[in-house]
Parts: sequence; structure tokens; C-alpha cells
Amino acid sequence: MKKGKKKKFFSKETLFKIFKFKVVDFIIIPVVALIIATLILTPKINLVGKKVVVLNYKDSYVEKGAKVRFLGSDITNNLDINSNVDTSKLGEYEVTYKLKGFIIPISKKRVVKVVDSSKPVISLEGDKEVKLCPNKKYEEQGYSALDNVDGDLTKKVVVTAQDNKITYEVKDSSSNISKVTRKLVYEDTESPVINLNGLNEVTYTVGSRFTDPGYSAVDNCDGDITDKVKIEGDVDTNTVGEYTVTYSVSDSASNSASVSRKFKVTNSISPDSGVKKPGVIYLTFDDGPQEGTTNVILDILKEEGVKATFFVTNKGPDYLIKRESDEGHTVALHTATHDYATVYASADSYFNDLQSVHDRVFNITGIDSRIIRFPGGSSNTISRRYSNGIMSYLTTEVLNRGYRYYDWNISSGDAGGTTDPNQVYLNVVNNLSHDRPNMVLCHDIKTHTRDALRNIIKYGKDNGYTFEAITMETYMIRQRVNN
Ligand code: ZN
Repeated sequence: MKKGKKKKFFSKETLFKIFKFKVVDFIIIPVVALIIATLILTPKINLVGKKVVVLNYKDSYVEKGAKVRFLGSDITNNLDINSNVDTSKLGEYEVTYKLKGFIIPISKKRVVKVVDSSKPVISLEGDKEVKLCPNKKYEEQGYSALDNVDGDLTKKVVVTAQDNKITYEVKDSSSNISKVTRKLVYEDTESPVINLNGLNEVTYTVGSRFTDPGYSAVDNCDGDITDKVKIEGDVDTNTVGEYTVTYSVSDSASNSASVSRKFKVTNSISPDSGVKKPGVIYLTFDDGPQEGTTNVILDILKEEGVKATFFVTNKGPDYLIKRESDEGHTVALHTATHDYATVYASADSYFNDLQSVHDRVFNITGIDSRIIRFPGGSSNTISRRYSNGIMSYLTTEVLNRGYRYYDWNISSGDAGGTTDPNQVYLNVVNNLSHDRPNMVLCHDIKTHTRDALRNIIKYGKDNGYTFEAITMETYMIRQRVNN
């Protein structure tokens, strides 16, 4: 019974079952084991950084590499990295990481995308906010568009105008859009400008005919609006006095401007008016200013504390006329050109020329000079060549116009007689008198006069003379008119 029971335990069926189980087992287990072994034994490439890298155009690609471990040790050195990334061209690139020394190919890839995410740049010429006159159309001031990839996109800029706004829009080949706007402000806040012809102060002698020297008005938006100028104030040239005339104007935006001008009506000059000062020396210098002589003469006068009178022309530098005035001398008028043929061609010609030098002096010094000397003096005969009797007319007319003219009673001879400073000195000092004003003719364009000046002054001081500049109160030393 016991034997039988044992036999039953190792029965054929049982053995078969065991055997059958083992057959299945021997097929599955090795396969599973092989797979597991392959998984464990195949080295794995681990990328450092992202699998997909997005770079901007022209950015630099930095290879971060990969790590490989196999059976506990680092075999990163066996990696072969291949890349053709070119960030100067848009596109998709691959970086491949291959492991050397294995029968089975083991590799990994990284994708690098080079894209353009930069917008084009639109540059506007002129202001972003443009102020315009209400009556004017905006004229395009210009623009340009530049893209990092496409280059110059100026021609692709779409310009639209709406609601006092101009919009400039452009798209690059990667669909990056740029947009800038320019604002148009229509307004006129600027006042017109009134320009007066001639001087801000005009002098007439009593009885002359009033003529306004004229004016003009310009507006930034309306242009010439001279015809809109309104004039207020009257000038009575028959009554001595000071008058103010006001010129005002408004533009179409109601901005206004106004300027005024003074008109003086004076008595005509009486030929024998003025104060005679015996023993006074009036040093007068004609035909300047001139660099190299006038400046030295001014230095000497300053050092000696002596005031003189300069009858200037339109020649020479402005600064010397300024100096003459600033240093207390009298800046008087000779004529602009000092050209006999011009100044004595006619009375009009003379007064135009005189006005020119008058305006020069006024512009430099702010002084309305009425003290004059005729080229060649009032007794000159050269004017006969150009206009018969002109000196007789002019010597009266200048007085009517409020000018005082001065000839001389001592000539230094510096204009023709001599070039010797000592002779110039003698010509002056030998003719000085304590019994009359001494009106001394000199020329500040002469070096010998410049070089004689110190001694002349010294002589005058040593011999009880005083020096003065001519003023409107100075008696007029006049010669006999010969034409
Ligand atoms: Zn002269």
C-alpha cells in the first residue's frame, strides 16, 4: 500500500507536467532575460540640455554635449558629436551623438531650430509729432525699415493716414510685424513777425514831408500778410516833437504782433548854432577805420585820456567802430564809399551814400549819428566835375535834415603833403591857437599820423590846450563853399 502510494506520486502525468512546464520556461525565460540584459547592458546617451533647442538668427549655438554611462563607468569620451548648425541661415538642424565601439549602433539626436523672432526696425525722419499749420498738408518727411534678416525693407512699408495719424507698418519674411506712428498736430501758435524798413527811430526836420520808411509782415502759416498791418499814430512834421507809430497785425489763427517806431521832428540846424570853445583841440580822424592804424590810435588816445572824433566810411572792421564808440569818442559820418564820382553825382546819390554809413554806425553802436564831414570838405572843387553847384545845395540841405557838418581850420597835411610824422606834428602844433576852437584834420588810415599822435597830444597838454570830441553842441567850423 505504501509502495503504491509512492508510485502514485511520481506518476507519468506528474512528470510530464513538470517536463511541460520546463519546456515553456526554457523558451520564455531566456528571451525575457535577454531583453532585460540588452536593456541593462546597452549604454544610454543622455543629452545635456533640451532635445529641441530654438535659437534666434545669428545667436551662437553652444554645444552642451551628452553623458554616457555603461556598467557603472562614464564612457562619454566615446561619443562622436556631429553638428551642422549654421545660425546665419534660418532652418532646422540636427546634432547627432554616436557612440563608438559598439556593434549595435547607438545614437541620439538633438534638434536645433534657427528662427527669426526680431521685428524689423522702422526709423522716421523728422519728428514723431509734427506740428502743422492748419492750412497746410503734411508732406512725408521720410522713413526707412531695416530687418536683421531681410535687410532694407523700406519699399515694403505700408503707410496709412487716418485721424491726424500716419501709420507705418512692415512685415519681415518671418512674419514679424513692426508698426510706428507719427502724430500730426494742426495748430498755429506762432505770432507773425513785423519788419520795419529803415531805423526804429527816424528824424525829420520841421516842415519836411512825412514818408513812412515802410514795413512788412510775415506769418509762419499765412505767409506775407503785409496788407493786414494796421497803423496807429500820427506824425505832424510841422510840429517839433516825438511821435510814436504802432504797426500791428494778426494772423488767421489770431496770433498777433506789434512793433512801434519813433519819429522825431526837430528844428533845422542853424549854421551859427553851437558853442565856440577857444583853446580846445578837436582831433578828427577821417576815412577809417583801418586795422593797423585806427586800433593803435585808439590805444594812444586811451593811454592819454583824450577824446577824439572819427568820420568813418563803410570800410574797415566793425569792431573798431564799436571800440571808438565804447571808448567815448564820437563816431561821425564821412560817407559810405568816399568816392567823389558817386557821392557828388547828385543830391540823392549823396544822401543815399550818407544813409548807408549812417545805418552802419547805427547797427554797430545804436547811435543815430547826425555829425558829418563832406569828402574833400564843404569847400571842395572836385564836386564840380560831377554836379554843378552841388555843395551849395548840400551844405544847406544837410542842415535842413538835422545834420551838423564840420570842416577844419588846421590840416595835418597827412593826406598828401607829407609822410613824415614829424612834419605832421609840426603842421598841427604850429597852427594851434588859444583864441579859437582848433579843428584838426587827420586821417586814421595813415601810419605817419598814427606815429605823430603821441607828440601832438603831449604838445597840446604842455601848452594849456584841452582835447574834446565833437558833439551836437559843438560850433560848426565851416569853409567857404566853392561849388
Ligand atoms: Zn576823407
